[in-house]
Amino acid sequence: MKSPAIPIFTYHSIDVAPPRDKPFRSLHVHPDRFAKQMQWLKRLGYQGLSMRDARPYLEGKKQGKVAVITFDDGYLNVYQHAMPVLDRLGFTATNYFVANQIGGCNAWDLPKGSVEIKCMNKEQLLDWAAHGHEVGAHTLDHIFLPDASPAEAERQIAGSKTALEAITGTEVSNFCYPHGGEGAELRKIAEKAGFVHATTTQRGFARPSDDPFGLPRRFIRRTDNSLLFVKKLFGF
Ligand SMILES: [Zn+2]
Repeated sequence: MKSPAIPIFTYHSIDVAPPRDKPFRSLHVHPDRFAKQMQWLKRLGYQGLSMRDARPYLEGKKQGKVAVITFDDGYLNVYQHAMPVLDRLGFTATNYFVANQIGGCNAWDLPKGSVEIKCMNKEQLLDWAAHGHEVGAHTLDHIFLPDASPAEAERQIAGSKTALEAITGTEVSNFCYPHGGEGAELRKIAEKAGFVHATTTQRGFARPSDDPFGLPRRFIRRTDNSLLFVKKLFGF
């Protein structure tokens, strides 16, 4: 039997888009649009889950209508605009935090002309976790890992786990490669660091037969209306 396919949605910023002359506008999903998408999940009988809560499904030990909700970069606007929606619907989600930018911003994108987007500070991160949502890791400095030496990649990957665990006081078991930069060696480093799963920017549905350190996702962009969202949920 073909193993069940699980959509892992990728979001970044839940906010109004920056002006037209700014880059990365597709990474901003309007809060109303996000709320509608989550309501569609609920209406269609799906349970929205964090990577941690979806683990038995991702490992093929449990089956059901689940959709995984992930956010990259730990933005404050997710705390402000997405968390109330998730809480209202009884969904959980994962946010992948950049350990050296807690209370900081998207410093890695500023040289490319991006608007500044604030990251959650320590209190907000802890409140995110207290609401049942997951703190995932996204390196120390949001570097492109394939360009780093193996030692530096290990420091960035394992170091973000240690740093976030020191803040939360609980295990951080999920990782996401910044800029989608990954490969066989980096997957090994993520595994050795003690993570359970790692997600990529490859497009597709996750299956229990997949490499747990190279899970594909469904990217939701600014212009995805409810119809396009549902298409990405079902894969057509
Ligand atoms: Zn990122």
